[in-house]
Amino acid sequence: MCSIKENLEQVNKNIKAACERSGRDTSSVTLISVSKTKPVSKIKEAIEAGAHIFGENKAQEMRDKSEVLPDNLEWHFIGHLQTNKVKYVVGRAKLIHSVDSLHLAEEINKESIKKNVISDILIEVNVAQEDTKFGVSVENTLSLVEDISKLSNIHVKGLMTIAPYTSNPEENRKFFRKLSELAVDIRQKNIDNIDMGVLSMGMTGDYEVAIEEGATYVRVGTGIFGERDYGRKENLIDG
Ligand SMILES: *Cc1c(COP(=O)(O)O)cnc(C)c1O
Repeated sequence: MCSIKENLEQVNKNIKAACERSGRDTSSVTLISVSKTKPVSKIKEAIEAGAHIFGENKAQEMRDKSEVLPDNLEWHFIGHLQTNKVKYVVGRAKLIHSVDSLHLAEEINKESIKKNVISDILIEVNVAQEDTKFGVSVENTLSLVEDISKLSNIHVKGLMTIAPYTSNPEENRKFFRKLSELAVDIRQKNIDNIDMGVLSMGMTGDYEVAIEEGATYVRVGTGIFGERDYGRKENLIDG
């Protein structure tokens, strides 16, 4: 098995190649190293190899890890967020990728007002219409964006999607393209307080295709840290 350092180098090489293929500047794509379920010791290895942007999908896990690691890291919240956990994420996450309801946005707004911060968020869209997935439907995205645009302490920066698990990444191209088109449609409405410049799409199995379709953030876990073992009970902080 390759080291985290070698994996990171390979992923960065693949990102560069995908950018070149699609005539994009490499600096237009940012890699998020998805460290969920992985112990702090592994994150430190990734930091030593040059990573500083990490993605987590559990609120307390992100809080606990960020508290024992250097302050200059960037944390992205990419998981389903329950309203009672919003307090752990607001003021800590650089970007919340997974807002899919007005109710959740209102809670984030309330907590942001309390902490006197502006929270940058993405709207999670269930482009592939999988019923197992969170996310707002393509049809309802614009009206959700319009509602959220009225909240004082939230700034919508773009869209996020999780494509289906597949062994053939080409199968997901249509979903990435759809998300990109949806962002263009919404941008054309010129809604106050709404940006559509960020597209968070692509994971280990399909990030190169996502880049070809316009991803600005790719979220790669397995490709950097190796397979996740959800059964293993380890101490994530000291382990
Ligand atoms: C776990 C996760 C990833 C990373 O998945 P890999 O296939 O391991 O790269 C990306 N995005 C989200 C939302 C995730 O939950």
